[in-house]
Amino acid sequence: MRFSTSFFPTLKEIPADATIPSHQLMLRAGLIRPLAAGIYSFLPLGYRAIKKAMTIIREEMDAIGGQEFHLPALNPIEVWEETDRLKAFGDTIFRLQNRPLVLAPTHEEVICFIARNEVRSYKNLPQIWYQIQTKFRNEARPRSGVLRGREFTMKDSYSLDATWEGLDHAYNLHAEAYKKIYSRSGLKFFIVGASSGAMGGTGSQEFMVESVAGEDTCVLCDHCGYAANLEVASSRMPPVSQAEGGKELEEIHTPNIRTIDQLAAFLSVSTERLAKSLVYRHNSKPVLILMAGNDQLNETKLQSALGGTVEPFSPTDLAQFTGADAGSIGPIGLQGFKVFADLRLKGAKNMISGANRNDYHLGNIDIERDVDVEAFIDVRTVNASEPCPDCAASLRIAQAIEVGHIFKLGTKYSDSMGATFLDETGSERPIIMGSYGIGVERIIAAHIEQHHDESGISWDPVLAPFEVHLIVVNTDNPELLGYSDRLYGDLVAAGLEVIYDDRTGVSPGFKFNDADLLGMPLQVIIGGKHFSAGNVELKVRRSGLRRVVAQSTVVGEVKKLLAELAAA
Ligand code: ATP
Ligand code: MG
Repeated sequence: MRFSTSFFPTLKEIPADATIPSHQLMLRAGLIRPLAAGIYSFLPLGYRAIKKAMTIIREEMDAIGGQEFHLPALNPIEVWEETDRLKAFGDTIFRLQNRPLVLAPTHEEVICFIARNEVRSYKNLPQIWYQIQTKFRNEARPRSGVLRGREFTMKDSYSLDATWEGLDHAYNLHAEAYKKIYSRSGLKFFIVGASSGAMGGTGSQEFMVESVAGEDTCVLCDHCGYAANLEVASSRMPPVSQAEGGKELEEIHTPNIRTIDQLAAFLSVSTERLAKSLVYRHNSKPVLILMAGNDQLNETKLQSALGGTVEPFSPTDLAQFTGADAGSIGPIGLQGFKVFADLRLKGAKNMISGANRNDYHLGNIDIERDVDVEAFIDVRTVNASEPCPDCAASLRIAQAIEVGHIFKLGTKYSDSMGATFLDETGSERPIIMGSYGIGVERIIAAHIEQHHDESGISWDPVLAPFEVHLIVVNTDNPELLGYSDRLYGDLVAAGLEVIYDDRTGVSPGFKFNDADLLGMPLQVIIGGKHFSAGNVELKVRRSGLRRVVAQSTVVGEVKKLLAELAAA
């Protein structure tokens, strides 16, 4: 493409509302333009990168036997009522005003709709169905450019199986395909076990790209490779206060003490000897969760450990059920509560906790002697530098971008929508499903997050909008311009994708800056003393490596260098 006649609008200034590198660079390099909050137009350069990501995805999905669909984005509201997901999505689902339709945020419903009408027998199974399509979600806080949009492109696939082994197989096929997709996309990624959350199902993993721009917090061990979302992570923190026990309970007057730190200071004891009580409703019944010292309760872990519905207690509940302020609640003598304790409290002795009377605490508590603990559960939030649960090395906490999510759904959707098949014995059974998503824009933004410098983007050849950025330094010299035009033709004829900066009246410095900003992997520079000596200069964008080659060998040298870059 000739720069002079193309639409490659670059910006010198960093747009004010863009705070992360990928957002800034996608705007500055002219890949995208905002239309409204969370809604972006992809311009030609940006869309070329998107199409390359989609090609990689298609190749790997086809390789595991996926069949490509194109499902409607407009869905009748009734199918969403069948699975009760209008409620689950709440305000996140866009509804039309003039028809009973929604804009689909995902496609389990439509898949089940097709399957229940078409899949009759185990002989029709297994199937893997996928599409690459626009999704709509009324995200509360669209941000970080295309990383969290209200309209975005997802590769979503669905596996349909007759058996649970079949589901495991389809799930593993997807996991392997995803690893290839992200590796080919030049991303350093890791996989974390995820919380199954509101989607239900029996297993799920997220594919994460480490980046300060990410919204997910993950716990990583650089020693053994342990990786988990903070929502499910655990560590090998030793249990607390196993020392001398066997003393008689004693009430301690603790006037105006509200926090664990105040209490520790007031009593001159370590926070590890204090047990903090938190109250929730579990399936609407009161439960008390006992935590060690300043350990933070992780509500997602609590939800997974208890199952059912877990809701916080309201202040009026608190007064009604306990008669004491939050700071004075404790596990002993409290009526009507089931008590769960964090694992670190197992075997703990000589502890101090609230006395269920304002301004008093109880001392000398031996947890297993004095507290009627329903179960010890791991519900604490992991902190940086704690020992890895697998190898005890020091854990690290990092932000990451979720670029994909794979899910064993089981029969949740096929049950509610009646998507069944007849098994070998002729009995009717629900189809066993999996669902698997990839954020296409997130691949591009994550790639830029991991591959940029202060001058701009530095693409891997595989996702680069063009492979070569050809720059004619001086368009006033007819001989030089004539050579450049011919070389452009030769490179294109050799099957290469080339941006040709043939602009007149633009300074060399300006052209070089644009080339570094757009970030194509290889720059071919024609001008100055090298041209007079019969040579051309090649510059590798990412490394800065420069190589001077004879004009007669340029096409071959360019191909060779690109192959080297692609293999790196
Ligand atoms: P998140 O937790 O980031 O909101 P999600 O769990 O809602 O993601 P899924 O429903 O599993 O995401 O969607 C599959 C994939 O689609 C995600 O892994 C992510 O890469 C991408 N995705 C989800 N929401 C958005 C969005 N608002 N903008 C861009 N990509 C998105
Ligand atoms: Mg979401």
